[in-house]
Amino acid sequence: MMAQYLDIKTEYPGALLFYRMGDFYELFFDDAVAAAEALDIALTKRGKHQGDDIPMCGVPVHAAENYLLTLIRKGFRVAVCEQMESPEEAKKRGSKSVVKRGVVRLVTPGTLTEESLLDARRHNYLASFARVRGEGALAWVDISTGSFRVMPLAEVRLGPELARLAPSEVVLAEGDEAVLGEIVTESGASSTELGRAAFDSAGGEQRLCELFKVGTLEAYGQFTRPELAAMGAIVDYLDITQKGKLPLLRPPQREAQGRVMQIDAATRRNLEITSALTGGKAGSLLLAVDRTVTAGGGRLLERRLSSPSQVLSVVQDRLDAVGFSVEQSRFSDNLRNALRKVPDLDRALSRLSLDRGGPRDLAAIRNGLTQAVEIAALATNNDMPRLMKDAASDLTGHEDLLNLLDQALVAEPPLLARDGGFIAPGYDVELDEARKLRDEGRGVIAGMQSEYQDLTGIQSLKIKHNNVLGYFVEVTATHAEKMLSAPLNETFKHRQTTANQVRFTTVPLSEMETKILNAGGRALDIEKRLYDSLKEAILGASAHISQTARALAELDLTTALGDLARGENWCKPHVDESHALNIQGGRHPVVEQALRKTGEPFIANDCQLGQGSDIWLLTGPNMAGKSTFLRQNALIALLAQAGSYVPAKAAHIGMVSQLFSRVGASDDLARGRSTFMVEMVETAAILNQADDQALVILDEIGRGTATYDGLSIAWATLEHLHNVNGSRALFATHYHEMTNLSDKLDRVENATVTVKEHDGQVIFLHEVRRGAADRSYGVQVAKLAGLPDAVVERARVVLDALEKGEREGGTAQKALIDDLPLFSATPTPAPRPTQESELDKRLARVLPDELTPREALDLIYELKGLA
Ligand code: ADP
Repeated sequence: MMAQYLDIKTEYPGALLFYRMGDFYELFFDDAVAAAEALDIALTKRGKHQGDDIPMCGVPVHAAENYLLTLIRKGFRVAVCEQMESPEEAKKRGSKSVVKRGVVRLVTPGTLTEESLLDARRHNYLASFARVRGEGALAWVDISTGSFRVMPLAEVRLGPELARLAPSEVVLAEGDEAVLGEIVTESGASSTELGRAAFDSAGGEQRLCELFKVGTLEAYGQFTRPELAAMGAIVDYLDITQKGKLPLLRPPQREAQGRVMQIDAATRRNLEITSALTGGKAGSLLLAVDRTVTAGGGRLLERRLSSPSQVLSVVQDRLDAVGFSVEQSRFSDNLRNALRKVPDLDRALSRLSLDRGGPRDLAAIRNGLTQAVEIAALATNNDMPRLMKDAASDLTGHEDLLNLLDQALVAEPPLLARDGGFIAPGYDVELDEARKLRDEGRGVIAGMQSEYQDLTGIQSLKIKHNNVLGYFVEVTATHAEKMLSAPLNETFKHRQTTANQVRFTTVPLSEMETKILNAGGRALDIEKRLYDSLKEAILGASAHISQTARALAELDLTTALGDLARGENWCKPHVDESHALNIQGGRHPVVEQALRKTGEPFIANDCQLGQGSDIWLLTGPNMAGKSTFLRQNALIALLAQAGSYVPAKAAHIGMVSQLFSRVGASDDLARGRSTFMVEMVETAAILNQADDQALVILDEIGRGTATYDGLSIAWATLEHLHNVNGSRALFATHYHEMTNLSDKLDRVENATVTVKEHDGQVIFLHEVRRGAADRSYGVQVAKLAGLPDAVVERARVVLDALEKGEREGGTAQKALIDDLPLFSATPTPAPRPTQESELDKRLARVLPDELTPREALDLIYELKGLA
């Protein structure tokens, strides 16, 4: 057995091997040590290998899923090795034969399908990035739903795209991990290297054609070489991990670039779109707006918030549909009630295709499709907007399949096909007969009990069943004597004596048992066959079922957003191609919900960008509500383009192409970079990329360094945004000096969050109004925060002295500032950022650590040639 184990193990060096032995998966050697530690289970020993003890640990098969989940979360991969025959079969081949075993699946983060291992409301993407001659492409699948996407992607955009998709695993070509590994890990995914052959574009094309059974991929679109390579690698990887059982993938869809709002990783983190800064969903926008009632609807919402659209007609169609469900509240409540009963069709389908399904998945398809028919009957209103009509028309057309499933399945089938009992009576004559024989047999045995009671005169005699003895006659020990002597011992053959009971069998009882077993076994065989044929029928209709699932998710999301808009009093945004960001009475959806629990009101605020001023410079003391105001406006634009109503009285939003949000000096020590460095790297990314349709939110940029440095950087950044990028921006700062900029830059306006001072205490009004803050109130805030009184008093004295000094020497100081070239507006616009040069591209590929001195010298000559 150990020889077999070691053979199999050598094929999976990077994974823990779950080696099936009866009711356990056993792990040996280093695997056992690692797993025992990760799972916190006992490490034992079993036998010896080359004279040393073999460490071993094990997990029971019935509880394996949970252990798997823990291991995957901790970054392990697991190869699941099953017994491919029964011990009896092995014995037939020879008395010393070891049961045949084989790995049936390699479990990795991106290839999970188990309901218990997945978050029902989140996608689980497996992505792959391929490079062919300097061009790149990203492909990604969710094997639990079958969606398959691809797009061309320059290497520099890999980070932001991974941030948008948040895959759990990314497959890279051998050698690429050194270059791209860090980008992948930063996105939270684990990276996996695959041989270069898997990334061969011609091979990829062939694999895809085979998978989708087509002669050419043209029907799905024109794919570039890197796209074919990336998709091919995914298919190859699935083949390896699923051991040839390919999941039901939908044909690849090309994700058009420029159709979604570009949001980079820092912005996503910062705006807490799908998860909060603390990790987890609590406190995120997603959680605050999620009123979907189906898993599919929940996943669609996550997708929409991660990729708001940039196509006006798409946004408008979605808003119209939400509008309809806001107005028709009865109609949408009815739809929502019906949707609540819709099971997760996508995932049931995927489990069936991977042969990891069971009777409950068949029933889920039946229940889902039945519910879809009911929903279609509700959604017949002629005034429904296009999106809803389209969805409604995708709900029906499954009559034949539904009839079949209705007749074939019982109402609530058991979990496992091997237990039987899921096919309804009356569906299959042969099955009914086998079951009848089996049940009659049980009736006959019940009759035997009273017959034997009469025969023996023992009224407490029972016929029982267990897995070891099968059927047996049981009497209490007090009757043992009588049963064991003539004439009863003629009929009753002794089988077993326990502490209180004695057990017997009889010839007719064993005969009956054999009959029951045969009939039962036959019934199970028939059910298994019927299961397969029902599964095939479902998989044959899988494309249509997926379409229905998508329509259900769309209806769920639309009515959920309608419900949210009504409940929270949100308004329909007016979205167009203008430069406006004109929001009246805007609120922050997450802060508002949090405040509600404390009973405090949220103060609504206006934001008017686009008419005359493109940039608001927001001043005001800490804790006044600057960050909240900045973020709420970004979130309102994002929600609008995701197709949702927005938390405001009225909103006019000119389509946003890119959204940027940065916070000064956030604590990023965990990633081992100086906070100020991070801040500058991120700011640089904005200044290099933002275009005139971008919306930029900058919160206390420059805070991470000494005052004058910080002020200078903030100042120059704002100028650049104004003069070069031409973006709309909200800029919060505590540098009062910057308010002077509005005099020099015509599209910059000052705004401030108001506070009131009362008896030396500050009261935050959280009201945003035009104009500059009069002073900073830092000392008062310090008092609020509980700084000792003596310190606050002392600070007040120092502040007074400083302010007095500034008043007296103020002019001199101001003249100094004006003289500094950095502090005056740039007279001529700097050139727009140009395309990456050949030199840049070459430099990006350089791996200094791997260069020999000689190569380095050659490189310098080469670079000189490019410059
Ligand atoms: P700043 O960025 O100015 O330091 P924040 O935006 O972090 O201030 O806000 C501080 C706190 O004030 C928030 O946690 C929130 O509880 C409260 N707050 C902010 N804006 C509002 C508002 N518009 N209405 C009510 N409370 C608010």
